[in-house]
Amino acid sequence: VSDEAARFDVLVVGGGPAGAKAAVQAAKAGRRVGLVEREAHIGGECVHRGTIPSKTLRETASCLSGLRKRSGGLLGLDAGVGVEVDSLMTRLKSVLAHEERYLADQLARNGIEQLTGVARFRSPSTLEVVRRAGGKTLVQAGIVVIATGSRPRSPASVPVDHEHVLDSDSILSLRYLPRSLVVLGGGVIACEFASIFAALGTEVTLVEKRDRPLGFLDRSLTDRFVAAFESDGGRFLAGASVESVRWDGMSRVVTRLADGSVLCSEKLLCALGRVANVAALDLAAAGLALDERGLVPVDEHYRTAVPHVYAVGDVIGPPALAATGMSQGRLAVRHALGLESEGAPEVIPIGIYTIPEIASVGESERQVTDRLGGAIVGRAQFDEIARAHINGSTDGLLELVCDPEGRRVLGAQAIGEGACDLVHLAQLAIHAGLEVDAFLENVFNFPTLAEAYRVAALDVGGRRARLGGSRAA
Ligand SMILES: Cc1cc2nc3c(=O)[nH]c(=O)nc-3n(C[C@H](O)[C@H](O)[C@H](O)COP(=O)(O)OP(=O)(O)OC[C@H]3O[C@@H](n4cnc5c(N)ncnc54)[C@H](O)[C@@H]3O)c2cc1C
Repeated sequence: VSDEAARFDVLVVGGGPAGAKAAVQAAKAGRRVGLVEREAHIGGECVHRGTIPSKTLRETASCLSGLRKRSGGLLGLDAGVGVEVDSLMTRLKSVLAHEERYLADQLARNGIEQLTGVARFRSPSTLEVVRRAGGKTLVQAGIVVIATGSRPRSPASVPVDHEHVLDSDSILSLRYLPRSLVVLGGGVIACEFASIFAALGTEVTLVEKRDRPLGFLDRSLTDRFVAAFESDGGRFLAGASVESVRWDGMSRVVTRLADGSVLCSEKLLCALGRVANVAALDLAAAGLALDERGLVPVDEHYRTAVPHVYAVGDVIGPPALAATGMSQGRLAVRHALGLESEGAPEVIPIGIYTIPEIASVGESERQVTDRLGGAIVGRAQFDEIARAHINGSTDGLLELVCDPEGRRVLGAQAIGEGACDLVHLAQLAIHAGLEVDAFLENVFNFPTLAEAYRVAALDVGGRRARLGGSRAA
């Protein structure tokens, strides 16, 4: 350990989206900033193992699935079992190169000093960095931001070997597309990979202990997701508990369920949640403890129990998305530096890149009903939208959730290609406190999926009129 500790105004640990944005925000405020990242490249799970690689594979899967639908099933368009997974992600290298270059330029432009190594607390203001290149450095900082992210959780009953039994990191390093895949879990990552591999032609069984996947969404969307997944050849096993998983040493992964049934598959993906990356940090040396879920507890300003230590991104738990992590990084630093801030955004969209896409923003029908005693929901079936007929996504749906008078837009949910982009129009309407009629007073391009807002707004208007009529009667 070098005797002289490097001193920073702000030290960020973790170079994923949350940490990178925290560092940039601090540098823009004129502070001396250090960013510690244990990997050779910055970008975190988002760039190297999660969001970007999975979405690159999804793009190919979604094109195949879309072409199949647009051809009315005439073209047998599977990627084909045994195809090299690399060949389905040909754009990944250039996408990664672009992201890495962009992030490196941004850090350099803002004068952020990068330390490549593993950081751990020695005291609340002093950290030791075990350098990747060898040696250790002591670092002191007035403000510390923990942004160390998360990693896949592997329960003891699922022996992940990264060759036959995979997690969300290792599935993207598969060499060949497997003939069959069992996916454990019913959350976002499980459903995304299950639908991607089904669309590519793998025989996929999604095993979930609850009665439906993505249980935080309304049933109107999850039922459609299951129907779309099954029409792409997938199988959804509801209410199924896994007793054991083992590789038979020859060719199959054998999954035994609590009801005695057995599933055999070439590969298995374990997607049963994530745990915070904190083991290397020695949080106790900073005077910090984890909560009962293994997450770093923070207040509404992302400040931990130690006032000059903040935590942002996946390490603090849900929603655990790249976009929310970035926003938390910026807000935490603004608070720590006493800069003016608009505060945490109230309306956060959730985008799920299954095939088809699913997105939601604001309140659901159930939440509005619980809060206000009722809700009016306008629906647009994509079957009514010309663009959906053109792109073969007629099984999509947009729901606009309004107050019990059918005036203010309070939430929206959508399923169908383009849903993750589409939902931002509702997000702005909610943020601006717009009335649903705004969708009728404005002209949208034709043919677009955004036309669904007009159809859903008309549906709200119709329900409002019927409600007015029944009240008058
Ligand atoms: C398969 C998959 C698909 C996903 N898809 C999406 C999506 O479509 N949209 C979306 O918004 N989100 C998606 N996510 C989630 C998204 O990737 C994460 O929410 C995001 O990466 C979290 O950012 P972060 O900065 O908190 O952590 P990370 O991105 O995990 O970065 C943390 C960094 O800290 C470093 N680190 C850890 N410990 C130390 C230490 N002691 N010292 C130094 N460095 C350390 C790690 O090496 C890592 O680079 C997906 C995730 C997965 C796994």
